[in-house]
Amino acid sequence: MTARRPSSPAGSREFELRQKRLLESLAAQNLDALIVSAAANIRYLLGFTGSAGIAVIGADAAVLFTDPRYAAQAAEQAACRVRVVRRLIENGLIPAIARGGWKRIGFEPARLSFAVFEQLRGSLPRGIRLMPAPGLVEELREVKSPSEIDRIRRAAATALEAYARVSSEIRPGLRESDVAAELDYQMRRLGADGPAFDTIVASGQRSAWPHADASSKPIAAGEPILIDLGARQEGYTSDLTRMVVLGRPGRRLAALHRAVLEAQMAALETVREGVAASVVDRAARRVLARHGLERHFVHSTGHGLGLEIHELPRLGTRESKRLRAGMVITIEPGVYLPGLGGVRIEDTVVVTAGGAEVLTNSSKQLLVL
Ligand code: ZN
Ligand code: ZN
Repeated sequence: MTARRPSSPAGSREFELRQKRLLESLAAQNLDALIVSAAANIRYLLGFTGSAGIAVIGADAAVLFTDPRYAAQAAEQAACRVRVVRRLIENGLIPAIARGGWKRIGFEPARLSFAVFEQLRGSLPRGIRLMPAPGLVEELREVKSPSEIDRIRRAAATALEAYARVSSEIRPGLRESDVAAELDYQMRRLGADGPAFDTIVASGQRSAWPHADASSKPIAAGEPILIDLGARQEGYTSDLTRMVVLGRPGRRLAALHRAVLEAQMAALETVREGVAASVVDRAARRVLARHGLERHFVHSTGHGLGLEIHELPRLGTRESKRLRAGMVITIEPGVYLPGLGGVRIEDTVVVTAGGAEVLTNSSKQLLVL
């Protein structure tokens, strides 16, 4: 057998380590194996980046099933045995589980379709139990390795540079979608696989929609322009929000921006290993409350990111989980006044023993053009 050299971000050693840690989680849950169906989890554990695949990982076997379109790619990428079959479930997964000698098999309840679950339940031999095992791989993914952090750092640098190139060129009359298209183009030019999510350019009243996409609305002078972008690079994402205005900002916009910036900095100040996620959230909320804006802050203060743009941990009011060094999170308080407009400021940061390393380090002032 020839040695396999995965072309994915991590070396094969890193995949071995991840699989070993998964086996420890399985043992702790008294499970014999896990059916891995989420593409990001397959990529994390096995290095395979194709869109059609399902894997089963147990103490004595890790097998990826994929279809003939991905045979060559899987042979090159996957850090495990690969079986190429048509009909992954009935010709691959079910016979493998039946032969595996496993009794208690976990599955990803939020990631496995009900149709596949029903198919498995109807076809597996008696005596094999399917057990929901939520979040096992997602929890392993919370703390990033140095090589993962490097990739997120590059994705952040790409988003920052694209923003720097494009933001200064915004003029009245350009459509939001023109600006978003230019940001996406520049991210690609700078080495991104693509945008990490649909780039948000929301101007005027539309900036009060926290997840507005970019529309055909022309941008006008004096209105808030909220730009939220991220790059995906070597599989890993980044996330950044800044505010722009054409011409002198009105007093209300300037005041909102100052309040959100103060809240963002206060939250950032609290970040370090050992701090509960809710403490970071509360720091932002306390500042906004002082400005009478708390009820307009309608989402949590941040989220983890990595292979996916939204990962664990969550930084919400009720999250008691403690931050750990190597987690990569966003800090992004915002206020949204329906009919008027909104302001959000967002950075991507790495949690360290003593604080936070900001990967999207650039001016957070309201950019006045
Ligand atoms: Zn964002
Ligand atoms: Zn975000």
